[in-house]
Amino acid sequence: MNWLTQIAKTLLQGLLDLSPNCKTAVRLQSAALERKLPFRRWLGLRLHVLLCKWCRRYGQQIRLIRHTAQTHPDKWVKTVPQQLSPAARQRIQAKLRSNQE
Ligand SMILES: [Zn+2]
Repeated sequence: MNWLTQIAKTLLQGLLDLSPNCKTAVRLQSAALERKLPFRRWLGLRLHVLLCKWCRRYGQQIRLIRHTAQTHPDKWVKTVPQQLSPAARQRIQAKLRSNQE
């Protein structure tokens, strides 16, 4: 029975070695949205996300942002030009000048 436990431990350690750290998992999740990951990377990432709730949550968030951007491109393409009113410009200039003195 001892040999069976040893095989299980070795197998488990092998699977855990595939799992990247959180920093790498974040990068891989972003990359996975753009391209297919090699199987070993994909499997390691799946294992990591299975065990790490923070990276799992990050993955859900970036997929939601991507989905929203793709389904509503008109909402984010048309941006309102940001312009200050002349009064606001004068207030800022006056404040900057008073800080320089
Ligand atoms: Zn993580």
